[in-house]
Amino acid sequence: MYTDISKYGKMLWEAGLIHLTSGNISVRKGSVIYVTRTGSLLGDISSSDIISVNLENNRRDKGASSETPVHRALYLANPEISSVVHAHPPYATALSWDYTTIQPIDSDSIIIPEIPVLTDCPYGEGATCVVESFPKLFLTHPVALIRGHGAFSVGKDVRQATARISMVENECRLLFFRKLLEK
Ligand SMILES: [Zn+2]
Repeated sequence: MYTDISKYGKMLWEAGLIHLTSGNISVRKGSVIYVTRTGSLLGDISSSDIISVNLENNRRDKGASSETPVHRALYLANPEISSVVHAHPPYATALSWDYTTIQPIDSDSIIIPEIPVLTDCPYGEGATCVVESFPKLFLTHPVALIRGHGAFSVGKDVRQATARISMVENECRLLFFRKLLEK
């Protein structure tokens, strides 16, 4: 658990998908969610930066990422999800102001053809409206954006959830450059 979160947290940082203190990662095992500590540096995680919280309620959430309610809502809505990753990928987030649905144009669009954008939630980590809106979106999409904030992805493990964020950011980077070249 620690090894995976540490490995992919470092990759998120090195790939420029988060800033120093942004982003969070969780893994679900049975009725427990293992989630990164609030304010932890994902690029340099130690084992004490991983907090175990309850799947069913927030009684042990103290110290856990402020986005824990979003992670929990996604797990509760779909038992097949075993990992949730949140990052602040710059190209995807830049596009999020101008789109309600991003449709990538590159070869990876076969894998992720559509990225929905939650447009009407105010800034703030763990926002109630994200908790309410995301579970439905993630029934049909593995990654979604919050306008002006960042991306959430889900997967069967941390590797898959992280890879999806990375793919979406690359799709958005290519779309961004195509838009520039079209001008
Ligand atoms: Zn965030």
